[in-house]
Amino acid sequence: MNLKSKLLILILLLLSVMSLNAQTGLVSQVRESVELSTEYPQCGSYELMKNWNTPANNYLDLSNRLLEDVTRIIEVQKSNRSFDDLFIIPVVFHVVYNEEDENIPDSVIFNQLQVLNECFRRGNEDAADTRAEFLELVGDTKIEFVMADIDPSGDPTIGITRTSTEITHFGGILPYGPGETEEISEWVNDSLYYNLFRLTRSDLGGNDAWDTDAYLNIWMGDLRIFEPEFDDFEEIVFFALATPPLDHENWPAELVEELADFEQGVLIHYVNVGSNNPNNLPAPYAGYNAATKSGKILVHEVGHYLGLRHIWGDGACPMDDYISDTPKSNASSAWACNHFLNSCTDDIGGLDLPNMVENYMDYSNGNCQNSFTLGQADVMRNVLEIHRPFLAETISTVGVSESSSFASVQIYPNPSPGEFYLEFGGYNGIVDISIYNLVGQKILGGEYETSTSISFDLSVKPGVYFVDLNFENGLNEVVKIVVE
Ligand SMILES: [Zn+2]
Repeated sequence: MNLKSKLLILILLLLSVMSLNAQTGLVSQVRESVELSTEYPQCGSYELMKNWNTPANNYLDLSNRLLEDVTRIIEVQKSNRSFDDLFIIPVVFHVVYNEEDENIPDSVIFNQLQVLNECFRRGNEDAADTRAEFLELVGDTKIEFVMADIDPSGDPTIGITRTSTEITHFGGILPYGPGETEEISEWVNDSLYYNLFRLTRSDLGGNDAWDTDAYLNIWMGDLRIFEPEFDDFEEIVFFALATPPLDHENWPAELVEELADFEQGVLIHYVNVGSNNPNNLPAPYAGYNAATKSGKILVHEVGHYLGLRHIWGDGACPMDDYISDTPKSNASSAWACNHFLNSCTDDIGGLDLPNMVENYMDYSNGNCQNSFTLGQADVMRNVLEIHRPFLAETISTVGVSESSSFASVQIYPNPSPGEFYLEFGGYNGIVDISIYNLVGQKILGGEYETSTSISFDLSVKPGVYFVDLNFENGLNEVVKIVVE
């Protein structure tokens, strides 16, 4: 990796500031580098891959081989492939906070889970905005996410951990200023990712992973980099990062050893979680709030975690994402939503399709992202079968109608004065509900129809309760309710 690429890693983080507010007065050296770039800082996953790449481990090449291998397997399996099975992935959200604002409420996390499920199951309202030429290519991935209901010790949980930390900026402190480009690039290589992954370590101010083979771990915290040497702004916001799958038989042991330093999962800046997050990106990032407050940054990152590459292949037209039904493009969409761009010639079913700004794996504005292609769904499902085999449970959806296979539970108000309500989004069916107190005694329960909201009243006995929901299609979810 040459110096310019190394610098670009950092510049990626700076770029949103520059493009948003040209008069922030950054030094010309930074501005010049910014102009060389066509990328934007939605996530750092590819930059992480580049960071890991050395001539000795040849990570990028191996990563491409991984994708080629998955692609080959998909081609082999295509005639037998079935989307009848639904993959269900248990998720634990680790909230790591220094200030109270960073201790984001359960309601934001539940909202994020709902957005994640809507996008992966194509239950998102804006699916209606997908352009006609893509409708044959896009679809339901049949991958769904539930809050973990049992923790690694076997105890009931709502799938959220909360950890108070002394660390104010998980990106760390950049000890160099404008002009010190070589030092900055060395710092990025040597320190930045280590700093960010402190989120995943209790001994370093974060919270330890739950078994990464059995849970999707998502850490939420303050990913800013503090930058005291720059005069005009002191913080860089790092939006999110995911680790792509690693455990592939063709991969050399040295590489696996090197990557074992980092936990598998997703890191996301606390402001970018959910579409109802009360926090906002500060100036000079404020203009990005509209584009990022959609909950779709996590959708993009989970795409990486399940093996997907950026739709433009992180390069010019010849670079591919190894997925045959995603059109090529020569660069990311850089937060735009341009429906008139067709930057590369390709042949997908005989058509030269435009840039697919609708795709979650572009860097387009979250408000115009609404689709995964079936090819992307294939790759993610194959990664779950081959590379993350213990992560998901599968259940058959044969005979289950589309509208009833998807559950998104809302519980409100929470905390509650006593009476609270459950609503089930798009799910119509029967749910078996059991409400337990903290010592595991069942307080209330029964079978209910989900077509209307269900209410319970626990005002006679304030406390913390777990509401265990078992749906007739096999889905299970546990939510916590606090009665005050
Ligand atoms: Zn990305």
